[in-house]
Amino acid sequence: MEFELNEEQQQVKRMVREFAEAELKPNVMKWDEEQYFPKELWPKLGELGLTGVIFPEEYGGAGMGYIEYATVIEELSRVDGSIGLSVAAHNSLCTNHLYQYGTKEQRERFVTPLAQGKKVGAWALTEPGSGSDASGLKTTARKTDGGWVLNGAKNFITHGISGDTCVVLAYTEREMRSRGISAFVVERGTKGFLPGKKENKLGVRASETASIIFEDCYVPNENLLGERGRGFVNAMQILDGGRISIASMALGIAQGAYESALKYSKEREQFGKPIFEFQAIQNKLADMATQIDAARLLIHRAAWLKDNKKQTTKESAMAKVYASEIAVKVCEEAIQIHGGYGYTKDYPPEKFWRDAKLCTIGEGTSEVQRLVIARQLILT
Ligand SMILES: Cc1cc2nc3c(=O)[nH]c(=O)nc-3n(C[C@H](O)[C@H](O)[C@H](O)COP(=O)(O)OP(=O)(O)OC[C@H]3O[C@@H](n4cnc5c(N)ncnc54)[C@H](O)[C@@H]3O)c2cc1C
Repeated sequence: MEFELNEEQQQVKRMVREFAEAELKPNVMKWDEEQYFPKELWPKLGELGLTGVIFPEEYGGAGMGYIEYATVIEELSRVDGSIGLSVAAHNSLCTNHLYQYGTKEQRERFVTPLAQGKKVGAWALTEPGSGSDASGLKTTARKTDGGWVLNGAKNFITHGISGDTCVVLAYTEREMRSRGISAFVVERGTKGFLPGKKENKLGVRASETASIIFEDCYVPNENLLGERGRGFVNAMQILDGGRISIASMALGIAQGAYESALKYSKEREQFGKPIFEFQAIQNKLADMATQIDAARLLIHRAAWLKDNKKQTTKESAMAKVYASEIAVKVCEEAIQIHGGYGYTKDYPPEKFWRDAKLCTIGEGTSEVQRLVIARQLILT
């Protein structure tokens, strides 16, 4: 059993850390306050292979595995959770759905520009009336001559406005319930594809979240993605991998907050000595470091299983629920260690805490992760 990243994986970690420190760090608070999604980063991320981490080189990807992918998302999120989330949604939701279930033509047409960072991806499952109960969606795809006509509304979609390529889940046969849901790929600019309201969020404010309306939106037959009626099952399989990335995002956020707290505890003096010397502060830091390590081990186990083509439903959900919940706690303790300064925007923990909270909600809430884990426990 290997508990360390190999030399190549460490190189990836160093490369992404350097990129995040140089390109993200100077802008983090500006983007956050302006709720600005920096789409111009995409070609740079593409050059580094970060927009196509888990896809083969033949389709413009970096040809890496989930351990590397988890490391990429962790390192981006250590500096900015918004970029971590955007890169995660682009890679493991939109592009991966197209790669896993697309035909050769669809892979060439859609996966390659997404993996190269020439296009931004979106993945639209959630609707105003259906979140955790995802199969309760109402969007329909009606068969017509040579194609399909989509009608409905999606909300909370990452890159709902700026996304160039969107995977959409819709009912093709409502009476078949979840086995009547199919996936389609729709390109921005298609008539009847109408980007809607952008959300004004607590955290991950530089990751664009918006609704999308489909109004008699026609797509040709070749835009059906995967088997008709298999869209929901495929979407659930996509989320097994996606959850590893949200867990990694939480881990990176927790790591960033912990590093900030450790540094501050050595610099801040009270009662004539650095606050690090108080046992109450040491206990907090010890708990934070232990929780971060435990989260990383759970994530790397899930990533290893994924790389070895094994079932990860339970392990991905365990990694996500644990990493996201400890991230919120670690960030809260980081604020506490910074005292009054931690409650201001002059120090990083308040933003880390706002960003961390998303990880307990997106790609399945903590409550849903526990349901997923419990269902798997009953099966064994
Ligand atoms: C920033 C952001 C980005 C997102 N990006 C995307 C995206 O790119 N694509 C996409 O499709 N979606 C996206 N989402 C949507 C996200 O996946 C949903 O918000 C999430 O699945 C929860 O759904 P909901 O918000 O409708 O909450 P609800 O499902 O209404 O849940 C409300 C509460 O009830 C609880 N609950 C619900 N059912 C149960 C149950 N059976 N047992 C116990 N408790 C339950 C939940 O845990 C939660 O606490 C995003 C959301 C956010 C905030």
